[in-house]
This record gives sequence, C-alpha cells and structure tokens, in this order.
Amino acid sequence: MMGQKAFTYTVNPARIVFASGASLRLAEELDRAGCSRALVLATPFQKTDAEALAARLGDKAAGVFAEAAMHTPVAVTERAMAAFEASGADCTVALGGGSTIGLGKAIAYRNDCTQIVVPTTYAGSEVTPILGQTENGLKTTVRSASILPEVVIYDPDLTLSLPVGMSVTSGLNAMAHAVEGLYAQDRNPVTGLMALEGLRALRDALPVIVANPADAGARAEALYGSWLCGTVLGTVGMALHHKLCHTLGGAFDTPHAETHAILLPHTAAYNEPAARDELAPAAALMGGSLGGGLWDFARSLKAPMSLKDLGLSEADLDRAADIAVKNPYWNPRPVERGAIRALLQDAWSGVRPN
Ligand code: NAD
Repeated sequence: MMGQKAFTYTVNPARIVFASGASLRLAEELDRAGCSRALVLATPFQKTDAEALAARLGDKAAGVFAEAAMHTPVAVTERAMAAFEASGADCTVALGGGSTIGLGKAIAYRNDCTQIVVPTTYAGSEVTPILGQTENGLKTTVRSASILPEVVIYDPDLTLSLPVGMSVTSGLNAMAHAVEGLYAQDRNPVTGLMALEGLRALRDALPVIVANPADAGARAEALYGSWLCGTVLGTVGMALHHKLCHTLGGAFDTPHAETHAILLPHTAAYNEPAARDELAPAAALMGGSLGGGLWDFARSLKAPMSLKDLGLSEADLDRAADIAVKNPYWNPRPVERGAIRALLQDAWSGVRPN
C-alpha cells in the first residue's frame, strides 16, 4: 500500500570525511574546526600509532594520552582531564575503537571541547551522542549534544591492521545496530535506507576481509557500512539485542564485540515473527531468514558462535534472563522470561536459531 507513515527525524550534526589517506589531512581538519592544539587519545595497544600521528601534527599536538580502557572508567577520565588541562589542549583526537572514542566523549561531556575522531574499528561510537562510563563497577549511560564528536575522519587504511577476528566481531556488532534500527519505534525512512545499505556493505565486505585482510576495497566497504550502521545507532532507539548485550557485558564482563556477534542471530530470530515486514528486506539480503541467515553468515566468517566460549557458565543463564527482563527496552516482541531463557540457552550452546 502506498503512502508514507508519519515520522520525526532529528539529524546529528557532524562533519564526516571518508577517504583512503584522509587521516593525513588531520592538521587541515583541526584548522577547519577552529582548533589549535590536540590531545591525542589511544589505548596502550595503539600508543605507537598515536605517537606517530602526534608527530605528524607537529606543534598542533599537545601530547598523547594512551590509557583508554574498555567501558570508560571514570578514574581514567579524571587522569585524562588533568592531562588535557596541563597540556594546554583545546580539542581531542581519538585514534582507535569504541574504548578510545568513549574517553574522548567523556572528556567533552565534562569540558565541551571539540572532538575529532579517527575510528579504527567498526563499532560506530564516533557518530552517536551516547557515552557509557563505569564507576565502582556500575555502568551508566548518558546522552548529550556535547558527547557527539564534531568531526569524524574515516581512513580505511588504518583498518588494515585490525586483526581478522576483531574485524568480523566488530562488523557483526555494527550489523546489530542496523538490524535493531529497522524495527525501532522511532525509525524513519532515512535510517531504514542507511540500515539496509549498511547491512549490504558489511555482508559483502566481511567475507572478502576474512579471505584477504589487506583487500583495500573490502576494508573501505566495511568502514562505509560501519558509518551507516553507527549513524542508525546514534539516531534511533535500540531494543532487546542491545539490552541483552549490556546485561551480559555488565553482569558477567563478557567482551563487547564478541557478545554482539554471538547474540545477533538469536535476537534477530526472536524478533523476526513480530517485525516481519520491517525485517523482510534484511532477511532477503541474508538469504531468506534473518536469524538463520545471520547465523550461517557468522559461521562462514569463523566468528565465535557460543556464549560458553566466552567463559559464561550455564548456571549464569538464569540470572542473565532475570536481569534482561527487568526494565526491558521497548521491543517489537514482548520480552518474556521463558522465551529469553530459551534464547540464551541457544546462544550459550551455539545452535542455529529456529
Ligand atoms: P576497543 O576500542 O575496545 O578496541 C579493542 C582493542 O583493539 C584495543 O586494544 C584497541 O586499541 C585495538 N584496536 C582498535 N583498532 C585497531 C586496529 N585498527 N588495529 C589493531 N588494533 C586495534 O573495541 P570496540 O569494539 O571498537 O569498542 C568497544 C567499546 O566501545 C565498548 O566499551 C562499547 O561499550 C563501546 N561502544 C560505545 C558506543 C556508543 O555509542 N557509546 C557504540 C559502540 C561501542
């Protein structure tokens, strides 16, 4: 039936620069943003890359702070705030994945400085106004305009070093944003287009990256897909899948991207009957059934397939189900304890969802 349904669409303002070699133009982007000195952020693992990037910036670099850690611990942010103030920086450049980007967001949330982000994974945090931080073992999520990075420089060359296993799980993490975006209550026609194109790009790119991690075309396609999927995450509300991932990550400390990768086929299969029309184009992309198709796809990429492989014990599943059904996010299919427990059992064992 023809006729557009009513919608509202709030666009997140950001400058997106996408090109092979784009990170070499960082100094230009600093000037353009009206910034003069950047504190370069990284994890300890990417410290050398951050130092090389700072060296290229010359006197536009105020220093390197390479202590970013998973889940944005407030103690690390406080040390980074002190380093920012001591260095005389007026902006940050985050070089890395969601952990480093989270640190940049946490700084900007406190001092509203300009953020320039150079993402090196597919997690998508760079285009969302959302920050998750942890203190005393508690993770809280905040949303604010100051959290959204002003400039994102996507340089596929920097993703060539992302190990194949991480490329796969990070790519599936991005695809999860798109799948949940398709049935989001507050979806709009543009996020729908972005979600499908993001899924298509990652579906095409990930198998090529697994076969040849140095394939520049596939690396560019995957990063393009992750931008689209991340933008969907930053624009509309997420549902059961993200709630379950937060539950497992928060209560059992399971790794972020792997948890998303394992759960996605199961949460998609759970919601498929309740959002058949919304998910039909994505199911067609994945070979007919979305849950089963995503499971086959993940397996073909040699992704981790079962929660037990992440160290979760079968005895934890009851508690995980209890937490997951408490204060559930809106979801197209009612979130019922028994059905969620069964979903978790399947994801724990690693069986193909029905
Ligand atoms: P990550 O940032 O934790 O990176 C994992 C490891 O890989 C780090 O040691 C990192 O230095 C290294 N790495 C990153 N890129 C690399 C590359 N190209 N080559 C070699 N090594 C590389 O992983 P992630 O999955 O990108 O981020 C996960 C975190 O981001 C979680 O804390 C999650 O909650 C958060 N996140 C937040 C949002 C949001 O919108 N707020 C969105 C997605 C993820």
